[in-house]
Amino acid sequence: MADHKTDDHPDGNYPCGMMPDNTFQTDVLPLLCENPLPVINWLKQHGLLKHEMHCQSCHNRMNWTKHSRSKDGFAWKCQTRYCKKYKFTATIRTGSFFSKSHVTLQKWVHAIYLWSERVGERTATRHVNISEKTMIDCYSFFREVCSKHFQANPIQLGGLGIIVEIEESCFTQKPKHHRGQAPHTPVPPISPVWVFSITDTSTKPTTGYMEVVQSRDAATLLPIIQAVIQPGSIIYCDEWRAYCNLQDLSGDTNKPVNSSINFVDPHCGAHTRTVESYWNRHKSHIKTMRGCKRDFMNSYLTEFMWHDRYSDNAFENFCKHIALQYPM
Ligand SMILES: [Zn+2]
Repeated sequence: MADHKTDDHPDGNYPCGMMPDNTFQTDVLPLLCENPLPVINWLKQHGLLKHEMHCQSCHNRMNWTKHSRSKDGFAWKCQTRYCKKYKFTATIRTGSFFSKSHVTLQKWVHAIYLWSERVGERTATRHVNISEKTMIDCYSFFREVCSKHFQANPIQLGGLGIIVEIEESCFTQKPKHHRGQAPHTPVPPISPVWVFSITDTSTKPTTGYMEVVQSRDAATLLPIIQAVIQPGSIIYCDEWRAYCNLQDLSGDTNKPVNSSINFVDPHCGAHTRTVESYWNRHKSHIKTMRGCKRDFMNSYLTEFMWHDRYSDNAFENFCKHIALQYPM
């Protein structure tokens, strides 16, 4: 896992070569033909396209019809004679995840599959045969789905007596080089970015939480700790400065901020090995964040956290999450 390269799938001959699971062969490959009907039916079955559509004007059910001018070859059509929208058509993508896109549905499904297998954007661009810019947009939509998923299902780690580890890791970004810049132009200083990580030692493989933080003080980190770590957890940390004034933060020295969370002194034998190995596991993926704007970093971290939890049947899980966010 440590050497897994995001941007270069180990199987250079993919998709003709065998993938680790046969989802591609059984589910995805049959959908990637010229004829759009198999992929349309599959998307309907999985709640990613509407099964039926009602006319906005007369509210009657619209008919499914062939429509050569539509990019999908089909459309919904009002067939109610008295309706002022009689014979008007609506796209089959109405209200769906794909509604604002011109990419074919076959290519979308292929891109979703490659993303769910953690294939990098560059490799995916080659396989799906779309422009790199379009693929970057697709991957950015996928990260949005991950973000929305965790907004609706906030990450909770630990629990009564469970050890969670916290750590702040420094992630340095490459300085930006601009094309056409004079050679003597001084290189801007490397800006350190701090990522706050929380890991749950009771899960195998370790599940965690990561967030880019502007500051490493208690005012920044404690709200995250309180939101993510469940009451009764035991927190191991190597870094004390930010957390040693818990009572002060609450403004009441007799009432700790969260009395049910216990910090353990690292000098008594607590370590943060799990958080380090968790961080290392994501290191190669985190490298893809180098050069990306600070504002986008959390969306990459969210993507990693999604894969942590749903990598078994990632494709299926991701389709389910899209369907939940775009109810048909
Ligand atoms: Zn109508």
